[in-house]
Amino acid sequence: MPDAVVVGAGCAGAPTAMLLARAGYRVTLVDRARFPRDTLSTHYLQQPAVALLRDWGLLDAVLGTRCPPIAHLRYRAADVAIDGPMWTFDGIGYALGPRRYLLDQLLVDAAVAAGVDFRAGQRVTDLIVEGDRVVGVRLRAERGGTDQLRAPLVVGADGMRSVVAARTGAAVRVTDPPRTCVYYSYWPGVSDRFEIHEAPGSWIGVVPSNDGLTLVAAYFPQSAYPQVRLDAGAAYLAAVRDTAPDVHARMRAVDRAERIYGTGAQLNFFRQPAGPGWVLVGDAGHHKDSLTARGITDAFHQAALLADSIGSGLDLHDPDRLRAALRRFERGRDDLLADEYQHTLKLARLAHSPRRLASLRAAAGDPVQAAGFFRSLCGHPFQERMTPP
Ligand SMILES: Cc1cc2nc3c(=O)[nH]c(=O)nc-3n(C[C@H](O)[C@H](O)[C@H](O)COP(=O)(O)OP(=O)(O)OC[C@H]3O[C@@H](n4cnc5c(N)ncnc54)[C@H](O)[C@@H]3O)c2cc1C
Repeated sequence: MPDAVVVGAGCAGAPTAMLLARAGYRVTLVDRARFPRDTLSTHYLQQPAVALLRDWGLLDAVLGTRCPPIAHLRYRAADVAIDGPMWTFDGIGYALGPRRYLLDQLLVDAAVAAGVDFRAGQRVTDLIVEGDRVVGVRLRAERGGTDQLRAPLVVGADGMRSVVAARTGAAVRVTDPPRTCVYYSYWPGVSDRFEIHEAPGSWIGVVPSNDGLTLVAAYFPQSAYPQVRLDAGAAYLAAVRDTAPDVHARMRAVDRAERIYGTGAQLNFFRQPAGPGWVLVGDAGHHKDSLTARGITDAFHQAALLADSIGSGLDLHDPDRLRAALRRFERGRDDLLADEYQHTLKLARLAHSPRRLASLRAAAGDPVQAAGFFRSLCGHPFQERMTPP
């Protein structure tokens, strides 16, 4: 019997499995998908996520995919122009934009190297519950066979539509309506820096990625989604043209490398993160608008937090000790995510309040204010530890 079954091998599940295995636990990781697989997501990794990849010994492998370090920022909103080198977090002065089919495969490989038993092509259909405790999962293989796995801890890392959350009845503690929808694609050589271009009702994000391709994403208000999706290609190009004309000019000089991807499912919620025999990490427990590009960074930090909360040598069959560990995770998770959630909801209104514009203008004109701007880019939990380049 494994000590833990982790459901979902994405940015939350694979590092959780890896860290628990490194701490000495027997871990089985299951995913309904076969890897490598891509997923509907842009993939900007903030410096605190890059620092964790380094700490986990995986940064060289990610850089080895020829994913360029992103060391500069360009920010435009109305008459505001801010340019400069990225600030540093824990010795890391750059962000990264690795494609998910590369990053997620590397994370799964690292979990397997740590001793995790990885089972691809296995869908969790239900949980095994005895009394009030989750004691395992029921699985269905791609070709139809069923199986079950018992373990004292089931980790739901199965994304925002989590089966583990649904079957445990994890309460939704906070929820807010979707604010945006987003479309994105890839263009050769459009930028070598992280760019944000804002206008009322529009937000353009630009991220250099693998193979010389640049990801260009366009955010629209959720209210525009029914209209935008009717002709997403035209709406996407028009948004870039109107909000970031210089990016649009660079795109016009090249051919689009991939189709246009998009979603309106920009859900905002916190679920109860844990209960007897189960815990949720990543999007399964908390999701927010992708505009601030924080989900992967959050997933990594939740994986680290859960592994730290459990520690090594814990008897996971001891319900009291397990409950205490999951409480530590719960408190830490809410501390980590609460402020940034509110900040994201505010930005995802896509509004230019006079107050916000005034503070952006101040940041553009004064090095001290600019420092505050750069510091805040990596999110609330990390800003105190950001240092100038
Ligand atoms: C459009 C968009 C843009 C984004 N841009 C960024 C960005 O730039 N930067 C950033 O940091 N974040 C971004 N995010 C957020 C980020 O993608 C997520 O927060 C992150 O993928 C969460 O990882 P996860 O492991 O929790 O979930 P997922 O990556 O969704 O992984 C869940 C895994 O569970 C598996 N699974 C699901 N159900 C089952 C089941 N029943 N049985 C077995 N396996 C199952 C799936 O196959 C999948 O592999 C974006 C999201 C979107 C939608």
